[in-house]
Amino acid sequence: VEELSLTTNGVLLEQMAGELKRAGLKRVNVSVDSPAKETYKRITGLDALEKVMAGIHKAIEVGLTPVKINAVILRGVNESDAAELAALSIEMPLTVRFIEYCPTDKEAEVERFFVPNSRVRSRIEDKFGAMDATEAVDSNGPAVYFKIKGGLGNIGFISGKTTYFCHRCNRLRLTSDGKVKPCLYSDVHYDLKKLIRSGASDERMVGMIKKIVSEKHLYTKLNSFRQSFSMRNVGG
Ligand code: SF4
Repeated sequence: VEELSLTTNGVLLEQMAGELKRAGLKRVNVSVDSPAKETYKRITGLDALEKVMAGIHKAIEVGLTPVKINAVILRGVNESDAAELAALSIEMPLTVRFIEYCPTDKEAEVERFFVPNSRVRSRIEDKFGAMDATEAVDSNGPAVYFKIKGGLGNIGFISGKTTYFCHRCNRLRLTSDGKVKPCLYSDVHYDLKKLIRSGASDERMVGMIKKIVSEKHLYTKLNSFRQSFSMRNVGG
C-alpha cells in the first residue's frame, strides 16, 4: 500500500487531524463545493464552511498532505464559484479537483445539472490565464493536473462523464461502515468489518484483501454499476 487517504466532508477534521496523522493516515480529500457560505449550506445542508476551512488548514499544518479539495460543479448552483474555488490553490499548497457530476442515484437530473470540465477549465482560465499541465500529484489516479501561474498548489480535473479512465484505476475504497468496494460504482462489496469482528486471523484478512486486489480489474464503472446508491453513504 503506497497511499492511505481519507475522503471526508471535513466537519470534524480540525479536531481529528492530529490523531489521524498519528494513526498512520497519509493525506485527506475534503469536499468543498463552494467557497460561499450560503451556497455551501444549500448543497450540503450544513452551515459548516468555516469549520471545514479550519480543518483544511489544520490538515496542512499536521502534514496530512497533499490535501485535495473535491468540488462537483453543478449548473445553476455553484458554476460561478469555480474560479474562486480554483483560487484556493494560489495561496495554499493544496490541490483543488473538479469532479464531473456523475450521479450514482438513478433519479438524479443529470442533464439539468451537468457541467463538463472543459467549461470549468475555461472559467478558471478566463480569470487567471492559461494553465500549464503539471506532473501527476498521484500515480494511477483519475485526475489530470494543471497549475495556475504563480500558484502554490494545483488544479485537477476528474472527468468521469466525458472521459474514461477505469483501465488505469488502482483504487480500493473502505467505506465508513467497514466494507471494501473494488470500484466506487460497484454494488459488490466485501465486509471486512464483519470479518474483523468475528475474530478472523490476520492471515484470513490479508487473504481477503489479496483476493479483492487480484479481482480489481473486473470492476469498472461500465460493468459493475447496477443498483443506484447514495454517494453520501460511501465516504471512506
Ligand atoms: S474503476 Fe471504479 S473507482 Fe476506478 S475510476 Fe473507474 S469508476 Fe472510478
